[in-house]
Amino acid sequence: MATRTWAAIPVVDVKDSASLNLGDRAGFLLDKTHSWTASQLIPQLNRQPWTFRKTAVPNFGLISDNLWVAFRLHNALDHSQERLLELGYPMLDKVDVYFLRDGQLLQAYHTGDRRPFDSRPIDHRSFLFPLRLKADETLTVLMRVETEGALQLPLKLWKVQPFFMADATVFALQVTFTGIMLALAIYNLMLFFSLRQITFLWYVCNVVFVSLALLTIKGLSFQYLWPNVPWLNNQGLPAIIDLDAMFVCLFAHSFLGVRRTSPFISKALRAVAGIALLLALSSTWIHYNTSIKLSILIVSLGAPVLLGVGIYLWIKGEPLAKFFTLAWGALLIGHTVLALDKTGVLPSNDLFEYAPQFGAVIEVLLLSFALGYRINLERKRRYAAQADALRIQSEANSQLESKVRERTFELEQVNRKLRELSALDGLTQVKNRLWFDEAIANEWRRSCRDVAEMSLMILDVDHFKQINDTYGHQCGDACLQHLAALVSELARRAGDDVARYGGEEFVIMLPQTSLQGAAELAEMIRYAVSRQPLAWDGKDISMTLSIGVAGCVPAPGHSFEGLIRKADEALYAAKAGGRNQVVVANLETSTQVLRPV
Ligand code: GH3
Ligand code: MG
Ligand code: MG
Repeated sequence: MATRTWAAIPVVDVKDSASLNLGDRAGFLLDKTHSWTASQLIPQLNRQPWTFRKTAVPNFGLISDNLWVAFRLHNALDHSQERLLELGYPMLDKVDVYFLRDGQLLQAYHTGDRRPFDSRPIDHRSFLFPLRLKADETLTVLMRVETEGALQLPLKLWKVQPFFMADATVFALQVTFTGIMLALAIYNLMLFFSLRQITFLWYVCNVVFVSLALLTIKGLSFQYLWPNVPWLNNQGLPAIIDLDAMFVCLFAHSFLGVRRTSPFISKALRAVAGIALLLALSSTWIHYNTSIKLSILIVSLGAPVLLGVGIYLWIKGEPLAKFFTLAWGALLIGHTVLALDKTGVLPSNDLFEYAPQFGAVIEVLLLSFALGYRINLERKRRYAAQADALRIQSEANSQLESKVRERTFELEQVNRKLRELSALDGLTQVKNRLWFDEAIANEWRRSCRDVAEMSLMILDVDHFKQINDTYGHQCGDACLQHLAALVSELARRAGDDVARYGGEEFVIMLPQTSLQGAAELAEMIRYAVSRQPLAWDGKDISMTLSIGVAGCVPAPGHSFEGLIRKADEALYAAKAGGRNQVVVANLETSTQVLRPV
């Protein structure tokens, strides 16, 4: 910055303009020793090596030297003038102002944000000092500024009315900003209480702390929130900035859901939040100059990192990252505009002073919208998950059902097989006695219901014992198999079931068959068996059968046991009659009809 030494304190002509920048018209002295006093300096003001800055708003940065400022105001008009001297940077710790006429002290003010708010001659967030200049009068202004933060000096001389008119606009902007932020904070706090999602709480803290930081920098917090706590006003800013950084990290962490998706980012965000909390705690006892530097460091390192995280997750396809990036970007642009304005890169514009406020409003509005969008997104995800679960369940159910059907079918098959097996005679593969006992009872009932004829025959091999004795048991077995096959072949009609009654006896049930028909079938069987010997071991083994046939139309007093008994009697009659013959018995008449061979 160009500096030049004045020969003496510069003189500023006070003309009729509404406001006059004094930054580039004042002389500056830096006191590294912090030891000079006004009473030492006042007698030798003109002998000091005053320097000059060529900028409307001199910025000395984070220096710890005391700054002395001096200039003379000369009323070039022919009437007296009321003016306000504005020092528009409310964060300055100690500001002492001396008005001198002809080397004599007229008025002194001792204020600054380390002194209670009522130390100010006019209640205002900026430092305002009223002064009156008579016609052709020259007033010397000497200021001493001591601060641990940034030493900026927006120094202006205002006509009273234009000042308050311009101030009204700026104040309206600040109130609008505060109103928007407050409404969003309260609204989202209510959402937090009703939805119980921590993201809303972090959002609210973020809104509160970014607002507090901006209001504190503009001197509004001191004026309206804690006017009697200069300590808090002075030390509070780094803590507010640190806590804001912490809440932003916590918000990003929870809002972007990085715990599940990006463990590394999750850890990094939590680490930064932890460091920010430590800095906030330490700012209560660390020197302000250090703690504000640390705050600036964590913000200027953390802000681009958060932007990077947003862009990275956006590229990775996280739908919420888009909102986060845009919102965060808006806030950063706001601060960048202010920085460019302060460093003179951008042309000076009063609105640029409030760029961070605009950025913050856009940020929190976008994020508030995104929180609503997030609820929607979560609901959609939940529905999709439910639908998935339902689909999986119903798939599992139908798989289970078809498995059960399969198993049931298999079981039925096995059961049928078992039933068949248990109904079959192992040796001859015709039905067995067990089956017959059940079947005859059923058929009898049906015949009773239908009043239908029913017949029955019992077959017995003649002299079978001899076959066993002569050719052996195995040959006997083969004979029984041969006989069963033959008889089954002949008694083919549906319902004509051949069963092994025991030993070498067989029984044939003949439902809906007349006694006549049964007798004919018996004769056919007897004949066929006698004609078809079994070929066994090179020999023909001949067999003959004795057959007892019985039949009836079921009537009261009849039973199937009676029918069986009758057939048995007929069989005995056949044996007694010389074997190899059929004897037919009628249940009612008990007459026996012998049928000769
Ligand atoms: P009848 O003409 O009086 O009927 O004389 P039979 O020898 O046929 O009658 P009996 O009741 O005296 O003998 C039946 C024989 O049938 C006795 C038994 O050894 C034989 N037997 C019974 N079941 C089987 C079998 O499963 N296999 C064989 N090989 N023989 C059997
Ligand atoms: Mg027998
Ligand atoms: Mg026999």
